[in-house]
Amino acid sequence: MKRLAVCGSTGSIGTSTLDVVLRNRSRYEIFALTAHSNVDGLAAQCRVWRPRFAVMSDEPAASRLHEVLSAEASGTRVLAGASGLVQVAAHPDVDYVVAAIVGAAGLMPSLAAARSGKRVLLANKEALVMSGRLFMDAVREGGAELLPIDSEHNAIFQCLPARGSGNAGRGVRRILLTGSGGPFRMRTPESLHGVTPDEACAHPNWSMGRKISIDSATMMNKGLEVIEACWLFDVGPGSVDVVVHPQSVIHSMVEYEDGSVLAQLGNPDMRIPIAHALAWPDRIVSGVVPLDLVSTSRLDFEAPDFGRFPCLRLGFEAARAGGAAPAALNAANEVAVDAFLNRRLRFTHIARVAEATVAACAGGEPRTLDEVLELDALARVRAAEFAAAIPH
Ligand code: NAD
Ligand code: MG
Repeated sequence: MKRLAVCGSTGSIGTSTLDVVLRNRSRYEIFALTAHSNVDGLAAQCRVWRPRFAVMSDEPAASRLHEVLSAEASGTRVLAGASGLVQVAAHPDVDYVVAAIVGAAGLMPSLAAARSGKRVLLANKEALVMSGRLFMDAVREGGAELLPIDSEHNAIFQCLPARGSGNAGRGVRRILLTGSGGPFRMRTPESLHGVTPDEACAHPNWSMGRKISIDSATMMNKGLEVIEACWLFDVGPGSVDVVVHPQSVIHSMVEYEDGSVLAQLGNPDMRIPIAHALAWPDRIVSGVVPLDLVSTSRLDFEAPDFGRFPCLRLGFEAARAGGAAPAALNAANEVAVDAFLNRRLRFTHIARVAEATVAACAGGEPRTLDEVLELDALARVRAAEFAAAIPH
């Protein structure tokens, strides 16, 4: 029986995780659930799962959840704030931590889980992008087991040689990171100026939270995933190619020296990588319907268009530049996406804000957590200034 802390349990990845756990109740127990401010959502999950802890990072929301659960004589203890998140992620009784908080807010609990030697199921790519080396060092030093649940990285993990002494000498030539191209794959850049948040969130293949949906529409998501792949698999950006694959059936591939290309296929449903990472090296049911290749009938591939998707170019550039660039890019993107979702910035200006911020935050790689947080804060200030200066 493995005990889970699901950080970000009310979100898209969080609810998919709970669905997989529901189908495998003899193997997993929910020890802690966390959310930002969705009191009703977390209260409902607590009634079903009866976890030892429920954490709300928003303090007033935590007080409200405490009132609700106390009135029901629930046995769940409510914790508040970032310290509550860290407490459950590092708790000695927890075996697996699902890192499914969106954005930089997920860094502290993900890092705490890594340092405490947990199995970390990582969805929260932003944490890795902003603190790559620090995070990977924490995994190594803490003796943690890092399993990606971002679908591409989970696919790559499945296609790589079994772990052991790294990939050196194992004949890996390239990683082929697939991406659907999002809802605007066929649109000209000029036609994107007036798109609304709802249009940008309407992804053709995946149902996800709003922030990552916007990242998919700009292809910043793929840019962040290039950086994520470099850290997870210890390769340089020169060994990572992005291939646009509109059907999202192949979730990524690994090419070997002998010309073999291994791919992982499946229906586009995050319960597959979640189930894989929960059970690894075993396999469990995920609830996903089997892939029907005959009705899929064709798989298409295209080269990415860096002119149409400047955010993808920025991702590669930040991966190559290293230093402060990845963290600055991530912070600027979070600010710009939030401004777009709140109709303070146009879709096409997200890339402009990101590019200007990275240029304004040039510097060395942050080495400590304080340096990471300082750089993140500085980049957010700069990005907000650039966003405010662009006429809407
Ligand atoms: P979501 O918006 O649906 O859910 C986010 C969760 O994080 C919620 O539970 C929310 O309460 C919590 N949260 C939000 N802000 C917070 C804060 N400031 N402090 C603490 N908790 C906070 O997001 P999602 O789509 O589930 O994505 C979660 C993470 O997984 C992201 O990093 C995303 O890039 C990654 N990811 C998602 C998918 C997907 O299919 N949804 C696929 C790959 C990777
Ligand atoms: Mg992905």
